[in-house]
Amino acid sequence: MNKKGILIILSGFSGVGKGTVVRRLLSDYDNYALSISATTRKPREGEEDGVSYFFKSKEEFEQMIKEDSFIEHARYVENYYGTPKAYVQEQLDAGKDVILEIEIQGALKVKEKYPDALMLFLVPPDAQTLKERLVGRGTETADVIHDRLERAAQEAQEMGSYEYIIVNDDLDTCVKQVHELIQSAHCKKSHN
Ligand code: 5GP
Repeated sequence: MNKKGILIILSGFSGVGKGTVVRRLLSDYDNYALSISATTRKPREGEEDGVSYFFKSKEEFEQMIKEDSFIEHARYVENYYGTPKAYVQEQLDAGKDVILEIEIQGALKVKEKYPDALMLFLVPPDAQTLKERLVGRGTETADVIHDRLERAAQEAQEMGSYEYIIVNDDLDTCVKQVHELIQSAHCKKSHN
């Protein structure tokens, strides 16, 4: 019989490199699937609809909430973000480990519904590195960067809810650590 996959919640401050870590997990290993979220945020340069996110208007997003299409949804710095249900369930049933790259409010809702979900939080080696990465990627205005750093300070108070906090300093090391934690979560699950 097909073994069911597990949900991996990957959170972390804006600019910490979650996207890069996820891309490496998907390219280095074949047991992962990435859930594509819906958002009302405007696409950044280079972001494609249906690849980075499903970009929605506020009205479309609210309609999806009414139709109960999300596992969870949350507001983050003036925009809605949500995890569509159908794809996640399909991939878990197919035995894939599904990565949700989501913020903390959504993470806690997912954990309530899926107690086996593994909660990982990525942090930068220090605050200055975070600021440099966020400014350096050049995708946000100064105001938005300010709001995101404020949000990071708030998230720092809450990250104790996660099972593991991983430092993203050297990318290879970080990817390997995340993969190993997921493998050990599988072992724990099969022993329960
Ligand atoms: P960004 O605008 O930088 O792409 O994402 C902003 C924040 O929203 C990040 O912390 C990201 O992990 C989170 N996020 C992305 N998709 C979802 C989602 O479906 N649900 C929740 N709760 N947060 C999400």
